[in-house]
Amino acid sequence: MGAFESDVVVVGAGPAGLFAVFECGMVGLKCHVIDALDAIGGQCRALYPEKPIYDIPGHPKLLAGELIERLEAQAAPFAPVYHLGRQMVSLTRDPDNVWRCGLSDGTTIRAKAVIVAAGCGAFGPNRPPLPGIERYEGDGGGVHYFVGRREDFRAKRVVIAGGGDSAVDWAISLAEIAAKVMVVHRRPKFRAAPDSEARLKALAEQGVIELVVPYQLHGIEGDGHKMTAVIVATLDGATRRLEADFLLPFFGLAMELGPIAEWGLGLERGTVTVNPATMASDTAGVFAIGDICAYPGKLKLILTAFAEAARAAHSAHSIVHPDQALHVEYSTTSGVPAG
Ligand SMILES: Cc1cc2nc3c(=O)[nH]c(=O)nc-3n(C[C@H](O)[C@H](O)[C@H](O)COP(=O)(O)OP(=O)(O)OC[C@H]3O[C@@H](n4cnc5c(N)ncnc54)[C@H](O)[C@@H]3O)c2cc1C
Repeated sequence: MGAFESDVVVVGAGPAGLFAVFECGMVGLKCHVIDALDAIGGQCRALYPEKPIYDIPGHPKLLAGELIERLEAQAAPFAPVYHLGRQMVSLTRDPDNVWRCGLSDGTTIRAKAVIVAAGCGAFGPNRPPLPGIERYEGDGGGVHYFVGRREDFRAKRVVIAGGGDSAVDWAISLAEIAAKVMVVHRRPKFRAAPDSEARLKALAEQGVIELVVPYQLHGIEGDGHKMTAVIVATLDGATRRLEADFLLPFFGLAMELGPIAEWGLGLERGTVTVNPATMASDTAGVFAIGDICAYPGKLKLILTAFAEAARAAHSAHSIVHPDQALHVEYSTTSGVPAG
């Protein structure tokens, strides 16, 4: 909790928001960055950190997680203040025309310009309805909804629950390093890409992965801090106890525009309508970039978001310093100014 002042508030620490911090820094603007997730990186880190991206200019092949590390490093000289694990819930204007951003933990940040880089909205995992599961979530507990560092699973016993791409892809990937991988799914057919499903089943036949089918999650055992086993059950109520160090439930992410819908911005089908020449929304001082913004011809790609971030930073400069003309300089000329 706390009360802060900033030039710019960036809502969302996905690739668009992170690059906006860099571009704002290049024109002398300081940023506070808010994200509902505990870690920066948006979809890249939460959904596909170990998948290669092939359409980042100048990088023929780059892992999504690596892209985020590089964007973080690029933004670091400008010392952004990150507020993670907190939603931005309100956006109101103070009498002096400065925006007041309210966070879910009671923190407030005042800024003249706000860049909304909120992707599909704040997102979080669909939690299985297991009593007491929250006690085992996060570091040390054993229940994770995202794979941050694959190495954490080396030589561990892992239960993966779900039948979609994430469940199947991570089962195949972790089988290379884990002591044991068990996949719990309620039917024999998976909803993953056919090639991946075939690989999963081949690994199961070789005994590398155990398919726990048709079962559903039923309970978690542990000492209240660290899980020791997962209880699964058939529809008939027959149960099995799977001793495990980790449970990875992959039941998709709930993505909701959430509070953004209440901020009075012009919206169209869950996206913020902007003028692509400035990235300005219909509300003075509020800009939108990345997946959350819409304009004719919009491409929902990371490379598009980068250009939008540059455009928004320049527009924000004219709001924060209306009396200062901004002369565009190449970075080769200016270098990276001290933050
Ligand atoms: C499997 C997969 C593969 C992909 N492959 C590619 C590819 O090869 N090339 C490519 O260009 N694109 C790819 N994409 C799309 C790309 O990931 C998105 O276009 C990109 O992540 C959008 O970036 P963003 O910063 O706009 O939003 P996001 O990455 O969605 O980040 C938005 C962040 O805002 C936060 N947020 C939202 N609302 C709030 C709030 N009220 N308070 C606090 N935080 C909030 C969210 O928690 C989230 O972390 C892929 C997507 C997926 C799912």
